[in-house]
Amino acid sequence: MAGLYVHIPFCKSRCIYCDFYSTTRWAEMEAYVRALCHEIRERRSELPADDRGRVCVRTIYIGGGTPSLLSSSQLASILRTIREHYAVEPDAEVTVEMNPEDWPLSNSPRGEEDSITSEDKNENMGLAALPPTGGAGRGANRVSLGIQTFDDGLLRLLRRRHSAGRAVEAVRSLQQAGIGNISIDLIYGLPGQTLELWEHDLDVAFSLGVQHLSAYALSYECGTALWQMRARGEVREVADEVEVEMYRRLCVRAREAGFEHYEISNFALPGYHSRHNSSYWTFAPYLGFGPGAHSFDGQRTRRSNRPSLDGYLLAERDAAGGTFRVPHDVEVLSDDELYDETVMCGLRTRRGVDLCEIRDRFGVERMEYLRAMAAPHIVAGRLAVTGNRLHLQESALMISDDVMSDLMA
Ligand code: SF4
Repeated sequence: MAGLYVHIPFCKSRCIYCDFYSTTRWAEMEAYVRALCHEIRERRSELPADDRGRVCVRTIYIGGGTPSLLSSSQLASILRTIREHYAVEPDAEVTVEMNPEDWPLSNSPRGEEDSITSEDKNENMGLAALPPTGGAGRGANRVSLGIQTFDDGLLRLLRRRHSAGRAVEAVRSLQQAGIGNISIDLIYGLPGQTLELWEHDLDVAFSLGVQHLSAYALSYECGTALWQMRARGEVREVADEVEVEMYRRLCVRAREAGFEHYEISNFALPGYHSRHNSSYWTFAPYLGFGPGAHSFDGQRTRRSNRPSLDGYLLAERDAAGGTFRVPHDVEVLSDDELYDETVMCGLRTRRGVDLCEIRDRFGVERMEYLRAMAAPHIVAGRLAVTGNRLHLQESALMISDDVMSDLMA
């Protein structure tokens, strides 16, 4: 069963740490949605059909960028196009990413701490497509909110457009609107973030009654404003041992709150794992639409749409109602690359790597190689084998990259 990812590559402004493909030319949204629907229709044949000719889909993820810049009708149009051309399972997980400032607050005064400007009011709400019950329906039934931190000073540093108060209000409003599956994103290891500030973020996060939490260590990506600020000495990285302690506290607090630690950076109440993201780690096929989006055929072929809005819109105009050839690159994974990805993705999750699967897909020799390379880490308590599964111990999650690199082909 396949997943669909829809990329909305527009942001009102750029956050200093972000290296995702997005542009601030959001006035081009209307033309973009037309092109996107064209691509959604056209690429249906890339997924296998069942014996009734249906292309079945069990997850849809609308991410960005900032999907909450879509108007209601634009989001509805995307979802309608998907439903017209794919057989979306009745209980499909349909996620929309949102920024807190884009959710219309029912009773919230817009105080000085609120950075929303009048131009933000609400042409940019795609939320009529959310079903009022938050349950299975024709709209989205899961919302992922990009909160990052509940500290206003750090939010300003990151050039986020919302305040901590606004983020809390957004969660409360979504809950009041009946959305029963809410995920929030946090970042730790921010410049100037202390253990106390991080504990405060965790206090707030686990008090909100959300079902899912993704928490990532800040990374300094080349080409970002944050990268340049560090080079100029305007910000300093937090010490490694502080970041390790932040992660340790995150794991403890999540466990105390009843969250399952099902992937290195992901925590969920039972029954609320992200089905869409989980399919990436289990090599299910998926199609990604929009510039910069990735696809995988479930075997060994990856496709990346080129990250260019101009190229995308131009190709759609050139198609003039005919075939829309989205500019893209294709990569066919070798056996070694496929093995490496299988081990990396497996170790990221609580399920771990299935040794029998490694034997069946890559041969006994490769499985023995994996066992041999894992042995010193097992002795050192960084890896463990439970049944047929090799998995990381919690104490080694922060150094998972080092462990994984030892297991590569
Ligand atoms: S973090 Fe999100 S909102 Fe900020 S620039 Fe990146 S995609 Fe846009």
